[in-house]
Amino acid sequence: MPGGEVSVRWEVANDESFRRVIQEGAETARPELAHSIHVEVDGLEPGREYFYRFKAGSEISPIGRTKTAPAAGASISEMTFAFASCQQYEHGYFTAYRRMAEEDLDFVVHLGDYIYEYGTLEDVAPNGNVRAHNSPRVRTLEDFRDRYALYRSDEDLRAAHAAFPWILTWDDHEAENNYADEFPENGPKSDAFVQRRTDAYQAYYEHMPLRRSSMPQGPNATIYRRLSYGGLAEFNVLDTRQYRDNQADGDGKKPPTPETRDSDRTLLGEEQERWLLDGLASSGGRWNVLAQQVFFARSDKPGTFGVPLRDMDAWDGYDGSRDRIVDFMARRSVENPVVLTGNVHANWANEILADFDDPDSPAIATEFVGTSITSIGDGADVQPDTAKTLADNSYIKFFNDRRGYVRCRLTPDSWQTDYRVLPYVSEPGAPVITRASFVVENGDPRLRMAGEEPEATDTRVSPEVETSRI
Ligand code: FE
Repeated sequence: MPGGEVSVRWEVANDESFRRVIQEGAETARPELAHSIHVEVDGLEPGREYFYRFKAGSEISPIGRTKTAPAAGASISEMTFAFASCQQYEHGYFTAYRRMAEEDLDFVVHLGDYIYEYGTLEDVAPNGNVRAHNSPRVRTLEDFRDRYALYRSDEDLRAAHAAFPWILTWDDHEAENNYADEFPENGPKSDAFVQRRTDAYQAYYEHMPLRRSSMPQGPNATIYRRLSYGGLAEFNVLDTRQYRDNQADGDGKKPPTPETRDSDRTLLGEEQERWLLDGLASSGGRWNVLAQQVFFARSDKPGTFGVPLRDMDAWDGYDGSRDRIVDFMARRSVENPVVLTGNVHANWANEILADFDDPDSPAIATEFVGTSITSIGDGADVQPDTAKTLADNSYIKFFNDRRGYVRCRLTPDSWQTDYRVLPYVSEPGAPVITRASFVVENGDPRLRMAGEEPEATDTRVSPEVETSRI
């Protein structure tokens, strides 16, 4: 774009043909925000469909469909949404979004890794990369903007954005792999990384449908927020990157140590944690959702001499943070807590125990972990260590290592999660199947399997998965 300001008109209509435009206006697109505009439309009716488009000069945008949330506290008999994360553009085609766009959803939740920062051939999927990033590793604001432009040019991703309203939060790769607050992946805090984070947050804000309240102020941006869906569900959208203490013991997969157990360490930061607990205490929602990034349940992986290894980037590296939240949920009888997770490029279904040291302790919450849209490529139904992981962690009930998204259907009585899975992403056009379904009943956080289909469309054997870059 040339450097000047551009006037952009917007329209909201009741119908797809825009015969009944019910609101319109104009905003100025400025180069300082990459010519993005963020329109906040008030006064729409709750719980109904609308269509919107933009006009600038002689150009008219494609049409987007959206749907407003129900009125606050309204009694809702049913709602369906999908959640997704982790879309390494080079690792596969975004067919999962094409299939998602064909669904009948009220909205989409994105749990981060919307872009990846790597240069070409810096991050190669086990079965090879099928397309290439458009620049070396992202370093400047201009680089971040170009990277978003590349991802947002994908037709399948565009179809999913055009079909539903989206609720987004970031994970690490929107700035840098496994960063923690002002600590980059490797090395100490530095001005260079703070500048990288500043540019990353700005480009994210510019290119995502976020409200102006999330506009960055220097290197900071508030994106944690709460959204309710009538009286049926309350979504606590979390930010587990910006305020966390640095990963314990140098990050990676490590045995638990006094540092991981140190109750002074935090994953959410003090302010966000208080905000979350206050919200859970006062919620009027039947289902109380934590829409967040990293694996919440304990997950012991086989280590040497029988000492388990845990992921220092996940809640396992921040025992005190997790204990405070789970204890609070138990003590205050928070109604139906459900954790939604991305980051690990595989599906899991977990019961959150009151005490992970006691496998007989009661389940307090339920966690559904989404696989990636493309990251690490085609994948496989299981990995060589799957059986042992499920045996060593009795509260983990399901694993899938193929790509896809997760569909959730909520009623006041039950929550059903369908793991929607694609047999391959290395070629376009894959079909989608429901690999497994789990049901949670109101008042009982335990998982009940509602059905499992074997994945049989693609039988290629995938190599051992490299998990250091999730
Ligand atoms: Fe990822």
